[in-house]
Amino acid sequence: MNFFDKYQKEFEEYDKLDHDFINDDKIWEQLNKWHNPSREDVRRVLKKAEQCVRLEPEETAILIQNKDEDTIQEMYELAHQLKEEVYGDRIVFFAPLYISDECANNCKYCGFRSSNTAMHRKTLSMDEIEQEVRIMIEEGQKRTVLVYGESPATEVDFMCDTIKKVYSVKAQHGEIRRANINCAPLTVEELKKLQEVGIGTFQVFQETYHHETYHKIHPAGTIKGHYRWRLYCMDRAQKAGIDDIGLGVLFGLYDWRFEVMALLYHTIHLEETFNGVGPHTISFPRITSATGTPFSDHPEYAVSDSDFKKLVAVLRLSVPYTGMICTAREPEKVRREVISFGVSQIDAGTRIGVGAYAQSKDANQLPDKEQFSIGDSRALDDVIGEICDMQFIPSFCTACYRAGRTGEHFMKVAKSRFVHNYCIPNAIFTLKEYLLDYASDETRAKGEKVLKQHVERFKGDPAYDTILENLKRLEKGERDLRL
Ligand code: SAM
Ligand code: SF4
Repeated sequence: MNFFDKYQKEFEEYDKLDHDFINDDKIWEQLNKWHNPSREDVRRVLKKAEQCVRLEPEETAILIQNKDEDTIQEMYELAHQLKEEVYGDRIVFFAPLYISDECANNCKYCGFRSSNTAMHRKTLSMDEIEQEVRIMIEEGQKRTVLVYGESPATEVDFMCDTIKKVYSVKAQHGEIRRANINCAPLTVEELKKLQEVGIGTFQVFQETYHHETYHKIHPAGTIKGHYRWRLYCMDRAQKAGIDDIGLGVLFGLYDWRFEVMALLYHTIHLEETFNGVGPHTISFPRITSATGTPFSDHPEYAVSDSDFKKLVAVLRLSVPYTGMICTAREPEKVRREVISFGVSQIDAGTRIGVGAYAQSKDANQLPDKEQFSIGDSRALDDVIGEICDMQFIPSFCTACYRAGRTGEHFMKVAKSRFVHNYCIPNAIFTLKEYLLDYASDETRAKGEKVLKQHVERFKGDPAYDTILENLKRLEKGERDLRL
């Protein structure tokens, strides 16, 4: 069977639906209705957002369309406050691992697209994966996201083998404890296989929710050209038992205001269909330049830094329980800013070339093997130091996923603000491991200061003694302690 035809039957089922849950006209109607909200309108929405509840589309439209500087500032302040309340002042670290740049699709913005002759094609062998993972672990990584193109070289059984391989690598000070996945949409049967080998978050970005734009950018006749196959991918994931899912938009393809509304509609669809379980994470990459890909150099709907800041805050206020990921596509300065009002996860020490951890100490060194270019190519240790300087606590925690606190359970815990009971102590333990095993002297000094501040906050709390006890055990050489 032709590779493009493999999901044909399922495509036909989706084609029979007379509509899907993204109504382009309705989204524009809502945005237009609130094209210039008053301060009172904005403050009314902020009052509701203070309760830490998911907003309704019209409320989100008000925040998106707010142009008043004073109330925009209030939005930033509340976004920061909610992030602290739900996630605590911790930032979770990960690094991507690119497994393959072979791809049968032809997405206009992507360096991996099939028609890009400037790309050197490569799928890692199991030995090469081991080598990459070993380097990542030796740099201090504990969490990764595996990234694949969509091609016969990377079908689901191969993906499962790669995940098992990643988990099997043990280096002197540890291992990768959580492997998330960013790959093409799959069938329920294929997704069950991923679930069985123990993936963390399953991420698929819709790229753009705007139907017409989607079809312009993803050519018909490719698998990715089927909008609804991608749109309903998270429904299939839930049916396969994967309740830890990550949504995303590639900003720059269409109007950012529409995309933020659509992300909210996707969230609502999932909550309504799957017992209140919305996305575990939302990603909001902006297009960056990719080798041999002129489209990526001048995206029609490029999002300015100030709009980017605003969209991060609006997402945080609209879906307060979700994790928000800001990747190294963004320059240091932008990341620093948005971390304060909404972001909960960042990557650092990132290399996005296939085989790049073994081939290069720095990012952006292998343009013919990289999907796009990145804006923050600093080493993990430098970024950890900076996050400590900002008074946040870096975390490599993987406890919830390993204790089964995902999906419905996670939503309850996150929504009722108990996350800090697990998350902050676990951030303390994993930062301590990093400081003992990998940190430079300078970063260790900064990290110890942040640890001390955080531990002191637990004085009088039932967890205080356990935290002190675990820190001692880590100093004596034990590893992977968690609540
Ligand atoms: N091939 C799979 C797919 O398309 O779903 C896996 C994901 S792809 C390797 C990872 C993500 O990178 C895409 O979903 C897209 O949002 C993003 N991406 C592609 N080209 C990009 C570019 N030029 N700049 C920034 N991000 C890009
Ligand atoms: Fe392939 Fe994904 Fe790139 Fe599209 S975005 S060309 S599907 S790797």
